[in-house]
Amino acid sequence: MASQFTVKILPKDIQQIALFLDVDGTLYNIENSPSLIKPCFRLQKKLHNIRNRLGGALGLISGRSLDDLDRIFDNNKIPLAGNHGAQLRDAFRTNEYQADTGIIKGIAHKIEELLDEQKNIEIENKGSNLTVHFRNSTIDRKEINKIIMELVKYEPKLTFLKGKEVIEVKPLSHNKGTAISYFMRTKPFIKRRPIFIGDDVSDEDGFETVNNKGGWSVRVGNYKRSKANFFLPNVKSVHELMKQLLKSR
Ligand SMILES: [Mg+2]
Repeated sequence: MASQFTVKILPKDIQQIALFLDVDGTLYNIENSPSLIKPCFRLQKKLHNIRNRLGGALGLISGRSLDDLDRIFDNNKIPLAGNHGAQLRDAFRTNEYQADTGIIKGIAHKIEELLDEQKNIEIENKGSNLTVHFRNSTIDRKEINKIIMELVKYEPKLTFLKGKEVIEVKPLSHNKGTAISYFMRTKPFIKRRPIFIGDDVSDEDGFETVNNKGGWSVRVGNYKRSKANFFLPNVKSVHELMKQLLKSR
């Protein structure tokens, strides 16, 4: 059983840790549509302060695209992984990585064709990834899973993830775990112990990576079938934890 995460279990010297955060369902409560998430000055400021406190070792690991993350976080200097690790940008902006966008094109067309007539389904083509949002739709979830599974089956370089009322079609080569591994090889993350906080199935790869590196994996909400060693009950408790991190020496 995962136990509740608290700053008390962290080393006294906060410079020994690196913090990675998911965005939707972790920093923000999930909205009906991803575009409803608006920039929040207080959150931006808090992240900026944490980043300084950790000597820069803060990263956001999201399913959103880098463009969208720039919109929400005001183009700050926080290292970002977008599209579930298929886009990476380090702290110095010297390296920006974008997975191949060609492989998604064909399948995107087919998915759009098959689901176009469905009401209240939002198909978001993010270049290297494609997200199908069906939170507002009455569509049979099993049916939609089946359609996408069938299509992805014939694409050796693609895979899909079932999230909270979304399905993400993504390159097999990249996930949130590979994104965290990448950052952990670069400054200022190198030689630190990582914490990763996320709330969804797509965060499980990240939890595994962090566990392998002797870090702390934290799932928001309490799920019995998570690889995370710790949990936090909700978004509010993530914000509370950040506040405590800032208060600690
Ligand atoms: Mg999330």
